[in-house]
Amino acid sequence: MENSKNKLAKKRLILVVEDEEDIVRLLSFHLEKEGYSIYTAGSGTEGLLQAFDYLPDLIILDIMLPEMDGLEVCRRLRSNEKTASIPILILSARKEELDRVLGLELGADDYMIKPFSVRELVARVRAMLRRMENMAAVQNKENGDVEKYFVGGNIALYPERHQVTVNDQPCSLTYKEFSLLQLLMSNAGKVLTRELLLDKVWKYEVDIDTRTVDVHIRSLRQKVEADPSKPRYIETVRGVGYRFTAGGE
Ligand code: CA
Repeated sequence: MENSKNKLAKKRLILVVEDEEDIVRLLSFHLEKEGYSIYTAGSGTEGLLQAFDYLPDLIILDIMLPEMDGLEVCRRLRSNEKTASIPILILSARKEELDRVLGLELGADDYMIKPFSVRELVARVRAMLRRMENMAAVQNKENGDVEKYFVGGNIALYPERHQVTVNDQPCSLTYKEFSLLQLLMSNAGKVLTRELLLDKVWKYEVDIDTRTVDVHIRSLRQKVEADPSKPRYIETVRGVGYRFTAGGE
């Protein structure tokens, strides 16, 4: 069932921006085998042009690139409306580069440190594309308008109604918990730093530090996770922050 559905579906387009030819060949081979169409670019500027031309479903982006580095490419993709929501998987040779990516809040959706396992990368790509399909949903309201909402596994969040359901049962959240969950779900798959969450949810409140975020995440998990000690949706990314995943991936 799953397989035949995949074959009928439109071929997903992936852009690989990487200057190391061995890696490009390896990725192309394995991703094509998975049924994806691959475009490749060997420099930052070429990658950016191709991204705007083809509007791929996902971009795999190396950081160290000739002409324009991956960080700048990422920034430009995010600042353009056409490409702002394309999922980006960053490849990096060094952990320190990643700190910059996360620190700058460039909005990469996931990352892998070289050398990486190709199987792992293919699995991440598959999960990222699936998240894109699952997360934003619309439903028709009685008056004919459509209402946008977010779904992840058994959790649904309706921004307009300010309502959350877990297993179709209403779940009562505080204002801050709701804001936190909305921010996490609307950025599903992305790691959000504690500082960013603090900034967006608590804004200019004084005497608040990042531990406040942890406290609220804990209470949120109590309400939406089946087993808060083994969270399935709200993942802790050690030393960085939190990430919403659709669960079971
Ligand atoms: Ca490189």
